[in-house]
Amino acid sequence: MNVKFADVALPVPIPQLFTYIIPTHLETFAQQGSMVVVPFGKKILTGIIISFRAVKPNITLKNIIDVIDLTPTIHHNDLKLAEWIADYYSSPLGEVIKIFLPAGFSQSSKKIISLSDLFDRNQKLSVTKSKIVQILADQSATIMQLKKKSGIKNIYSIISELDAEGIVTVSEETSKRPSIKTERFFKRISNDSTLQFRSKKQQATWSSILTIHQEEINAASFLKETSSSLSTLKSFEQKKLITMYQKELSRNSAFLQDGNLSKSLSIQLNKDQIEAVVHITTALAENVPQTFLLYGITGSGKTQVYIESIRKVLEQGKTAIVLIPEISLTPQTVKRFQIHFGDQVVWIHSRLSDGERYDAWRLAQSGKYKIVIGPRSALFAPLKDIGLIIVDEEHESSYKQFDSSPRYNARDVAIVRASLNNAVVILGSATPSIESYSNALNNKFTLLTLPERADNAVLPPVTIVNMIDERKQLYSEAKINSKSIGKKAFENLSHSISRLLERKIRDRLEKKEGVILLQNRRGFAPFIECKSCGYVEQCDRCNVTMTYHATKKHMRCHYCGKVKPAPTTCTQCGGFEFSLNGFGTQRVEQELAALFPSAVTVRMDMDTTTRKGSHEKILRQFGEGGADILLGTQMVAKGLDFPRVTLVGVISADTQMMLPDFRSAERTFQLLTQVAGRAGRSTLAGEVIIQTSQPNHYALKHVREHDFVGFYNEEIEFRKSINYPPFSRVIVVEFKGRNERNVEQTATSFGNQLFTLLNRESILGPSPAVLSKIKNEYRWQIIIKADKDGDKNGTRARHAVARVVNNLSGQSIKSKVKVTVDVDPVGIL
Ligand code: ADP
Ligand code: ZN
Repeated sequence: MNVKFADVALPVPIPQLFTYIIPTHLETFAQQGSMVVVPFGKKILTGIIISFRAVKPNITLKNIIDVIDLTPTIHHNDLKLAEWIADYYSSPLGEVIKIFLPAGFSQSSKKIISLSDLFDRNQKLSVTKSKIVQILADQSATIMQLKKKSGIKNIYSIISELDAEGIVTVSEETSKRPSIKTERFFKRISNDSTLQFRSKKQQATWSSILTIHQEEINAASFLKETSSSLSTLKSFEQKKLITMYQKELSRNSAFLQDGNLSKSLSIQLNKDQIEAVVHITTALAENVPQTFLLYGITGSGKTQVYIESIRKVLEQGKTAIVLIPEISLTPQTVKRFQIHFGDQVVWIHSRLSDGERYDAWRLAQSGKYKIVIGPRSALFAPLKDIGLIIVDEEHESSYKQFDSSPRYNARDVAIVRASLNNAVVILGSATPSIESYSNALNNKFTLLTLPERADNAVLPPVTIVNMIDERKQLYSEAKINSKSIGKKAFENLSHSISRLLERKIRDRLEKKEGVILLQNRRGFAPFIECKSCGYVEQCDRCNVTMTYHATKKHMRCHYCGKVKPAPTTCTQCGGFEFSLNGFGTQRVEQELAALFPSAVTVRMDMDTTTRKGSHEKILRQFGEGGADILLGTQMVAKGLDFPRVTLVGVISADTQMMLPDFRSAERTFQLLTQVAGRAGRSTLAGEVIIQTSQPNHYALKHVREHDFVGFYNEEIEFRKSINYPPFSRVIVVEFKGRNERNVEQTATSFGNQLFTLLNRESILGPSPAVLSKIKNEYRWQIIIKADKDGDKNGTRARHAVARVVNNLSGQSIKSKVKVTVDVDPVGIL
């Protein structure tokens, strides 16, 4: 076929491809999946060739300017995956393509081009090529420099050709962080204690050096301990008193200090783990896509199963992706994989610079890295021959990209990517999502179970404390006391810590054991109420209450960040007395300080972890015993492993349980089970106390019994009764804008059109969202529950929604209403 035109996906929020002419000199380069440079309006954009056409469409076309790589940037299977994502999540293909390309792509323009030693100067070359050779004859240059000096537009394709012909060599820029860590050491040459120095500082440093018995001294530690300066050491070096040198720190030696890690190398799998690995190995050998749900309680040895499965994949000459929720993706976790697989592992995380990210991407593509570990975005790493994709903590909502298009769930996309590559998926969790467990029971997934702790630790007993009874009790005691001390007896009756929990904490403090307390709400008090009229302070920009922050003595909106001074008079009635209602972490912290004045409490929430490294610092302090109590939001629930913790307390289980969302019970069960798992990770027996005003809630009953299956059985009945997932597929259409009437009108027209296309009963709304205003934008919603019997993949519903979005795009742009579609949302607030 004589192809002359290419359809290109561009990173613009318009759901269509754009056609360009392929100039003759680029014909051999332009392939499906190639990254190209094209003019777009007044801009120059990079995009990906999706398909070709032989017949010119009836519009004026522009030329492709350049093709960036000799081989396609996006592999054929990945293009298919991108198309699936675009269709399923209703996103423009150009936006989907973005997640397949590393940030920092611009780094490629920094590649260094040099003339090859093998280049024969008598060789005949085209005009453009000899122009480049001439420039390079003087000195090597980056692609950008070559482009400027030569004035050639399609520089990438020319370089690729010269590279293929062996005329130039392309090397990577070397600003990359060295993968081997080195540190400065020094040794003494002279032992002369009679030396006199002009500077007092030098004299003092020399005396310090003479007192050290070690032969080899770590410079950084020495300087820190003696408050000396590096320049002093350098002057000694010049005087030949000492010799300084860099020394490699063996990465393995650092790991070996960590008993837990080195233990991992010599672990003998137990019976259940072996059975799981056998099943997975069999599937790997079959080369057909298959998904396993590895349901194993906390500490049952799931990670060890991942490691052994990866070993089998590498033996097959294939590669693996390991997804871990960002919050549990600690160096500790990654090291566990590294001690088994060394340099074949690359860790992609949010703190990488664009350049580092680009390098990781490129080296995964070239085959240097065989195992990519990272959060949801790592799923799109360009590995070849993928044999296995692991999704650890598969139930975590952070696998869903909810705030920008494409709104994909990496767990679900992992299954599609695996099936396109005939690969195996392992979804691991101690509290599987209702959807995944249901899929396992329906034989879509294969269920593998690890029912026991690998380290023989026992599950901690859980006690539920009824906070309503607690308050009644306090009140009746106060009533009795008031007979002798009067009204004073009723002061300070509002406590967040029950007497049982107080007693348990006191006991642990005496035994010097660790305590973790969870309160999933930051700030001091989430409601500020006027005592005379009952008015509750709200954010001006959002339809939510303002939280009082005691550290800064102001009110803050947790949705938009707006800050206001705490009220002195009520805006409604002029009253000037306020009560602070509810308990945030700061208030619990204050209460702890009053109850246990000599105990050290560290608080971990979004307010104390904004600075880089503060998160790690808090954990280290607590882990090393520098603090008695670790108090925090859900951050304290995930992945921490502190053997000294023997008590976990939940200040209030209600914060999540009472949210008007169909997943509230599930999320509560997951969070509480997870935090309960932090107690007794060692030979010391643990214990869990959960406080609530809903002690009979079924989620709590099953947390107490450590009974996921029991919870599942009740939850699935509830989901069935309201026809929510897994019985239906939910699609939320959101309408957002500053003008309330416009938002309502757009939502209403949308609803009316949708009613004609879909079953009326499957559509809820249009109606204002629970959070009806955020950052001055009003929010309306339509919720579609696509029936799985009649519309298996939700195709009909998704396409109907897409059609209406398209029909109304003119109107919504004009009325400044943003319409977003979220398929399989994690929440519907
Ligand atoms: P999970 O990933 O399910 O939370 P891990 O794989 O982290 O569990 O294992 C929990 C602890 O048990 C770790 O300290 C690990 O080293 C240890 N462990 C795992 N498998 C075994 C085994 N077969 N024998 C002894 N200890 C094990
Ligand atoms: Zn706000």
